[in-house]
Amino acid sequence: MADLPLEPGSTIGILGGGQLGRMLALAASRLGFDVAILEPEPDSPAARVSARAIVTPYDDPAGLETLAGLASVVTYEFENVPAAAVARLAEMGVEVAPGPRALQVAQDRWEEKSFLNAHGAPTVAFAKADSAEEAVAAAEQVGAPALMKTRREGYDGKGQRWVEHAHEAPAAFAALGAEPVILEAAADFQRELSIIAARGRDGAIAIYPLAENHHENGILRRSIAPARVSPQTTEQAERIAARILSGLDYVGVVGVELFEMKDGALLVNEIAPRVHNTGHWTLDGCEVDQFEQHVRAVAGWPLGPTHATARVEMLNLLGDEVDGWKRFAAEPETRIHLYGKRDAKPGRKMGHVNRVKAL
Ligand code: AMP
Repeated sequence: MADLPLEPGSTIGILGGGQLGRMLALAASRLGFDVAILEPEPDSPAARVSARAIVTPYDDPAGLETLAGLASVVTYEFENVPAAAVARLAEMGVEVAPGPRALQVAQDRWEEKSFLNAHGAPTVAFAKADSAEEAVAAAEQVGAPALMKTRREGYDGKGQRWVEHAHEAPAAFAALGAEPVILEAAADFQRELSIIAARGRDGAIAIYPLAENHHENGILRRSIAPARVSPQTTEQAERIAARILSGLDYVGVVGVELFEMKDGALLVNEIAPRVHNTGHWTLDGCEVDQFEQHVRAVAGWPLGPTHATARVEMLNLLGDEVDGWKRFAAEPETRIHLYGKRDAKPGRKMGHVNRVKAL
């Protein structure tokens, strides 16, 4: 097992080589760590800023063995890491953080909502269905219109269908691939908020101010942080975040997506057991950003401060919007973060900018 706190000069492993892995690797290197990326695609954004790259599938035994030989602590940048890969690393004496329970909960929407409700974190009403008949019953139970979501592997609004009437449920179930789903009651929210929080190896918790988020076609476009919210809303969100972190015996940064209802109640939409797009504002709005915070947590270091030092509007640069970098570079209040992706496919997250204002 790893000797914690991890000494500078040690290697941290990251499963996944996208932009989140890249920003984690940059933060880790600032703290004196080397980073080894395991990612199936060659030439990944994270590998290009890291000391070592292992290009194999996530569950490749040889790849995992190489990673275990380099890194005593391993983390990940996305929640669909195969459970078997994490189990194999643990068998080889590697500390994987966040741990297997966090992954298990975050990989399955039914497990996730069940966990949340059991730990006093409210959600919309939901029911699971494994067949077309069960889907009708589930839609009747939660009340139509209902949102059908595949239990596993959905992200950025993929794997979802609205069911306007219960009798439409079988067609939606078939369209989603006839795999296990949940049906969720429609949340009549007034805003989407999120909260980024961290828990250290010692159980200490640090929570960032809330962000207000705007999506288009299921993809995050824009976050504003700190969100303008009442002290009661902040207190509610912090209580929810703390319950999730303690309930999962969590180590690292978590992103919690919230619906703010018209009566001010907060419902949890989703937990991301990793650094999160709605936390990118912390790069320029906090002394210790979410990436460094995550590295500190998994390395067993003390957590850093989380208060805002500025108000930030974060804009995602999707597809060829990244070509606007010259214009952004000419704006004195704008900080540019580009991910070094070679191919600007439509809708692909190529970078983000943070427009920074005084608090
Ligand atoms: P998700 O993939 O669960 O994060 O959902 C993507 C987006 O769909 C959310 O950011 C919301 O805008 C919307 N959404 C998800 N679940 C619901 C729901 N139960 N009711 C209304 N809108 C939802």
